[in-house]
Amino acid sequence: MRIETLAIHAGRNPDPATGAIAPPIYLSTTFEREADGSYPHDYLYTRTNNPNRASLEQCLTALEGGVAAAAFASGSAATAAVFQALAPGDHVIAPNEAYSGTPLLLNSVFATWGLEVTFVDMTCVAEVQQAIQPNTRLLWIETPSNPMLKITNLSEITALAHQTGAICVCDNTWATPLLQQPFQHGVDLVVHSTTKYLSGHSDVLGGAVIARTDSERFQTIRHLQTTGGAVPSPFDCWLTLRGIQTLPYRVKAHADHAYSVAKFLHQHPAVEAVHYPGLPHHPGHSVAVEQMRGFGGMLSVQIKGGRDRAFAVAANVKLFSRATSLGSVESLIEHRASIEGAGTRTPDNLLRLSIGLEHPDDLIADLEQALN
Ligand code: PLP
Repeated sequence: MRIETLAIHAGRNPDPATGAIAPPIYLSTTFEREADGSYPHDYLYTRTNNPNRASLEQCLTALEGGVAAAAFASGSAATAAVFQALAPGDHVIAPNEAYSGTPLLLNSVFATWGLEVTFVDMTCVAEVQQAIQPNTRLLWIETPSNPMLKITNLSEITALAHQTGAICVCDNTWATPLLQQPFQHGVDLVVHSTTKYLSGHSDVLGGAVIARTDSERFQTIRHLQTTGGAVPSPFDCWLTLRGIQTLPYRVKAHADHAYSVAKFLHQHPAVEAVHYPGLPHHPGHSVAVEQMRGFGGMLSVQIKGGRDRAFAVAANVKLFSRATSLGSVESLIEHRASIEGAGTRTPDNLLRLSIGLEHPDDLIADLEQALN
């Protein structure tokens, strides 16, 4: 089945009790046992499993082409579970350019827990190779990366991980399974912040880990999910599953609109640089063409004149909202360095844009008046 069909049907069936097309929300925290002590419906207690979470996990598994998924209360909880599934003393290779919460977790939580980490430029295979140690157990990829839209070669880095006896994990939040299928490149686990494109409406926090094969590592992640209990509520699962139904068509439009905006910004005299993998001059363009089915709805732009000019542009937009996050129907603009804080590598004149589903001509007109 094609992904457009899976997005609508995977994990969903009309409710057998009533015929309802939209699934009920199962708020019950506990489920009845038979007289013999068994659980005929396989549900025991909602932290261990819940019908809405099971539906969402089935759908995510189908979209990524994996074998199983574990849904979490946030993308960060999903990321943390992946690192927690390692042992103290293990070594992780992570990108030096990624969603700032990922290095924050590694440096502030997992360093004290005894996890070793080396940050490298994941787009440079030689640099990744040099960072490998005898205790390297996990390579983390985020492509396109936040906020410079760097493109990492999924097949090359996964091959390197496997030669080393490590696993490869890809944060697929920005691309979504519609534009990028990491399992086709041998990646072992996919992580999502479902808060973004998958749910798609800035109204529900969530995350997931999806497995290509039923490994011992994934079983540990499942154990962390149900024992640690950082699970999404039934309503969160319901909202996310509802959002996913329109994901394919939203993502196509996000990508089309972002391409139009990127082309406009690229030729504007007030712009120093545009970072969008769909533009032919982007350093990751040829790899993106090979491994993606579109270039996504995110882009970053550096404004001539430095931080103050960038702030002025963000201050003058009318249609874009000045807010963090991404992947929703409305367009957002953000001065990324100031949200990342001290130690950020993000240029001071960079604005990150999440391009929404408004008409692209209106978005371009808004940016044009703000730039002028
Ligand atoms: N991964 C990426 C690429 C993100 O952009 C984010 C959030 O912005 C996360 C993970 C963390 O997700 P959450 O905010 O749902 O914890």
